[in-house]
Amino acid sequence: MLYDLHTHSSCSDGQMSPTELVNLAKQQGVDVLALTDHDTVSGISEAQQAAGSVLTVIPGVEFSSLWRGLNIHIVGLNVDIDSPVLRSAVESQCDTRQQRAQTIAERLEKCGIKGALGGAQHYAQGDSIGRPHFAKYLVDSEYVDSFAKAFKLYLGAGKAGDVKHLWPNISTVVNWIKVAGGMAVLAHPNKYDLTQTKLYALLDSFVEAGGEAMEVVTGQQEAFVSQKLSRVAQEHNLLASCGSDFHSLGQPWQMLGRMSALPIGCSPVWQSW
Ligand code: AMP
Ligand code: MN
Ligand code: MN
Ligand code: MN
Repeated sequence: MLYDLHTHSSCSDGQMSPTELVNLAKQQGVDVLALTDHDTVSGISEAQQAAGSVLTVIPGVEFSSLWRGLNIHIVGLNVDIDSPVLRSAVESQCDTRQQRAQTIAERLEKCGIKGALGGAQHYAQGDSIGRPHFAKYLVDSEYVDSFAKAFKLYLGAGKAGDVKHLWPNISTVVNWIKVAGGMAVLAHPNKYDLTQTKLYALLDSFVEAGGEAMEVVTGQQEAFVSQKLSRVAQEHNLLASCGSDFHSLGQPWQMLGRMSALPIGCSPVWQSW
């Protein structure tokens, strides 16, 4: 069975509609696909409809949160998208994204960049506007010559457009997921550039908040990192998840369904499904 439990559609910052994403997953031989858009579940119904009986779509979400000043992502798997708590959570997160987009635009304006709010809104097709939409605007208006440079100069950690103080703490987010019947998974632990001590502190806080799993395999990751994360997951009694974090075609390191298998010894999140 091929599982890809972390993917994005155009409902947040992905390139493809939920239907296109599901069709690609079928082509790639994925059996179980979680759609985990940033702070929204608005693509889930369409994805489930497109799946038919060929593959299973797991209703998911990737929430933004804040821990010790760092922007940490927490994936919820198998959430009930009709749960009142989840509905109000995604509504509040998308409102926060709108507010944040205004602040990002004001800060970019101070750097000499004009029209960023309208520009980003133009690319944000769904209700979840984010930094990648600003990055597209910066490239298309020729403020920078690549998406990577947009993050390096303006949007990445510590830059003018890195606005994160509005996000809720991790226990609030884990609680939303659990009340909505889902499983809370710490997303891509290796992407936060943490020392071992800080990674362990994050995992302790996450477990204390009720977190149940962490991503051991993600798209962009070398085998030795997966091995390390597998040991870390076992030490914290966390289940292991795997997902490509697919956003768009043309990024071979993040291709849908093309991650390596979970290392031997981990307990997969799907063992109880
Ligand atoms: P946001 O959800 O608005 O905080 O934006 C975070 C998203 O931006 C991530 O999910 C990635 O899709 C994208 N992203 C973050 N850092 C980079 C980077 N250095 N280069 C390209 N995309 C990035
Ligand atoms: Mn993203
Ligand atoms: Mn993420
Ligand atoms: Mn993601």
